[in-house]
Amino acid sequence: MRLPPFEVLEPVTLKNALSMLEKHKGKVKVIAGGTEIVGLMKLGLSVPPYILSLRKIKNLHGIKKSEGQIIIRSNTTLREIIESSLINDLFKGISQAANSVAAPPIQNRATIGGNILQNSRCMYYNQSELFRDGLKPCYKAGGDMCRAVKGGNRCFSVYQGDMAPALISFNAKAKLEKSASSRTILISDLFTGKGENPHSIGENELLTDIIIPIPKGQYSSAYEKLRIRKSLEYPLMSSAVFVSGNMNGEVIDARIVLGAAGSSPKIIDKVSKALKGKKPSNKDIEEASEAVLQFVEVVDNLPVPASYRRKMAIIYTKRAIQKALKDLRKDR
Ligand SMILES: Cc1cc2nc3c(=O)[nH]c(=O)nc-3n(C[C@H](O)[C@H](O)[C@H](O)COP(=O)(O)OP(=O)(O)OC[C@H]3O[C@@H](n4cnc5c(N)ncnc54)[C@H](O)[C@@H]3O)c2cc1C
Ligand code: SF4
Repeated sequence: MRLPPFEVLEPVTLKNALSMLEKHKGKVKVIAGGTEIVGLMKLGLSVPPYILSLRKIKNLHGIKKSEGQIIIRSNTTLREIIESSLINDLFKGISQAANSVAAPPIQNRATIGGNILQNSRCMYYNQSELFRDGLKPCYKAGGDMCRAVKGGNRCFSVYQGDMAPALISFNAKAKLEKSASSRTILISDLFTGKGENPHSIGENELLTDIIIPIPKGQYSSAYEKLRIRKSLEYPLMSSAVFVSGNMNGEVIDARIVLGAAGSSPKIIDKVSKALKGKKPSNKDIEEASEAVLQFVEVVDNLPVPASYRRKMAIIYTKRAIQKALKDLRKDR
């Protein structure tokens, strides 16, 4: 598979990058680590005339602590996140999520920004041009039908990023900049819920920072991921859990976020509330995990059946809650 022709833009400052994005709006795609976008270009699923590389922008990289929060610049690699003792000490679930992405060669190149902004996937769409040529285009390809769901009136492609569910469980925010202005929004608000176009980032915007508030008091987190093999595998279902409370295991606050359970990460508020204000028994954990099922929106468009992924949403949520609660009780 060959890459289509394109022109490379290599700004050395953020200001430069933002004005290039503005100038070529609609015709330019950003490349960070390139581990996703290059594959999409080879499949002919993304054919931008211009590619804007972030590689030479020096200050778009690094992890720092500042006034009750941690700021990760968007071009920081997953390897740096895995190796950061700051992230591992403060946000275990985020560290576990980064460690679960693909395998070391990908983690060495892949960036946190690119991970959050990866496109949703479907086994009928992420295919070669030859495969797709013989078929009518589906919603995600600009057509008017869905191959995964007969009679379906929208796209059900799956958001399979590992980092966003874990970041959302900590109420993390994203800073988006364009040449004339910037905005900071919750990462959960960066998602549209639409398979055709899963993110709300503008064509002239750059994700520059990920801002994670450091929770107060005793808290812990965990990330559990279903995959076929232990390497090079996107999540088929995942669960990120944040809990705060005391050393007796009484929960003050809880947040459960499912990954690969629809076209965006799913915040399971209703179920999280059921864990609050008590020391959850095995039965409480069991019931909370089973209750996530009603929020799972999966169809048969990944390599394992939707029925299996639904069952696994329960199992993996249960494991993540248990792991987070066990850690909450630890003396620090
Ligand atoms: C074999 C294989 C296995 C994989 N397994 C996993 C997995 O287990 N879990 C997982 O989550 N992912 C997986 N991935 C997907 C991908 O590798 C990761 O999502 C990776 O983190 C993407 O980061 P990147 O820097 O390489 O992004 P790129 O490919 O450079 O970019 C991805 C997207 O983000 C946009 N983008 C990047 N940075 C910015 C920015 N700062 N501002 C605006 N837009 C931006 C790009 O335009 C592009 O649309 C896998 C990929 C492969 C090839
Ligand atoms: S879910 Fe349907 S519309 Fe979406 S990519 Fe798959 S086949 Fe296409």
